[in-house]
Amino acid sequence: MYPSRFRYEAPRSLDEALDFLRVYGDEAKVLAGGQSLIPLIKLRFASIELVVDINNIPGLDYHRQESDGSLSFGALCRHVDLEHSELLRRSQPTMAAAAPLIADPIVRNRGTLVGSLCHADPQGDWASVMMALGGEIIAAGPGGRRTIPVSDFIMGPFQNALRPGEIAVEARVPAPKGAVSGNYLKLERRVGDFATVGVAVALETSGSTVSRAGIALTGVGPSNIQATAAEQALVGSALNANSIQQAGRLAAEAAQPKTDHRGSAEYKRHVVETFVTRALGSRGAVAA
Ligand SMILES: Cc1cc2nc3c(=O)[nH]c(=O)nc-3n(C[C@H](O)[C@H](O)[C@H](O)COP(=O)(O)OP(=O)(O)OC[C@H]3O[C@@H](n4cnc5c(N)ncnc54)[C@H](O)[C@@H]3O)c2cc1C
Repeated sequence: MYPSRFRYEAPRSLDEALDFLRVYGDEAKVLAGGQSLIPLIKLRFASIELVVDINNIPGLDYHRQESDGSLSFGALCRHVDLEHSELLRRSQPTMAAAAPLIADPIVRNRGTLVGSLCHADPQGDWASVMMALGGEIIAAGPGGRRTIPVSDFIMGPFQNALRPGEIAVEARVPAPKGAVSGNYLKLERRVGDFATVGVAVALETSGSTVSRAGIALTGVGPSNIQATAAEQALVGSALNANSIQQAGRLAAEAAQPKTDHRGSAEYKRHVVETFVTRALGSRGAVAA
C-alpha cells in the first residue's frame, strides 16, 4: 500500500525541527528510527501533513554516564548501540539484558530507545525497563525543556504526554543510591517477536537491605504496568525466598492480561509470576 502524500523535512538543528512542529502542530510527526512510524504511514493508519526527520540533527546519538552517575540517552541512540554498550554491561544490568531482546537486528539497527518510549506500544519493552528504573524523558518545546517521569509519559496505548510542538530529546535513568542489580526476561513466540510477557526488575541494595525496587510488566495490559505493590513488598528488608515469592504473586495480581493469539490470560499471568521470581533470583549485579 502506498502512503498518502506528505511533506518531508530533514532539519539540521533542533531549533529548526521545533520551528516545523510549531507551524504544523498535530499535523506533523517526528521520524527517528522510522521502524514504527513508516509502517503506520504505509498502512495509512496515520495521516500526516509533514514528517520531520531528526536524523540529520547532530549530537543526538549519544548514551553516556553523567558526572552525577545518571545515564542519559539521546533521541538518536539506537537499540543496537545499547545492545553493544560496554557502559550498560558495566553499570545497568536491566537495560543490558533488554537491549538484545528488542525485535530483530534490522529493527535494532535503526529503532531508537526514545522513539520506542514515544510510540508507547503496550508491547514495547523499553517502557517497562524505564519504569522499573524510575526513568525520565526530557521534552523540548516552545516553552523550553521539561522532565517527565516515564510512568507519567506513557499515558495509554500509543499515547504519550508530549504537548503539541514538543520533541523528546533525551531519556534519563537517575543515579542509583545503592548497589544495582536487575534483569529483563521476555517470552516471545519466536526470536524477534513482540513480548507475550516481559518482566523488568531493577533493585538497589544497601548492604543486604533492598533500598529501591522497580518491577514493570510488558504485554499484559493496555499499557506497560508498574507493579507497585510488588515493589513495595521488597523494600526495607533483605531479599529472601518469602519476599521473592510474595513479589511474584503481587506482580501477577497487577497484570491485566487478555487471551489472544499469544496465549491465554491465565497462562500469561502465570508467566508473570514465574518471571518475577526468576528475575529476582537471577539478577545481574553491579557494584555500588
Ligand atoms: C518487525 C518489528 C518488530 C518489533 N519488535 C519489537 C519488540 O520486540 N520490542 C519492542 O520494544 N519494539 C519492537 N518494535 C518497535 C521498534 O522497537 C521501534 O524501533 C520503536 O517502537 C520505535 O522507535 P523508532 O525510533 O523507530 O521510532 P519511529 O518509528 O521513528 O517513531 C515512532 C513514533 O514515535 C514518535 N517519535 C519518535 N521519536 C520521537 C522523538 N524524539 N520525539 C517525539 N516523537 C518521537 C514518532 O513521531 C512516531 O509517532 C518492532 C518493530 C518492528 C517493525
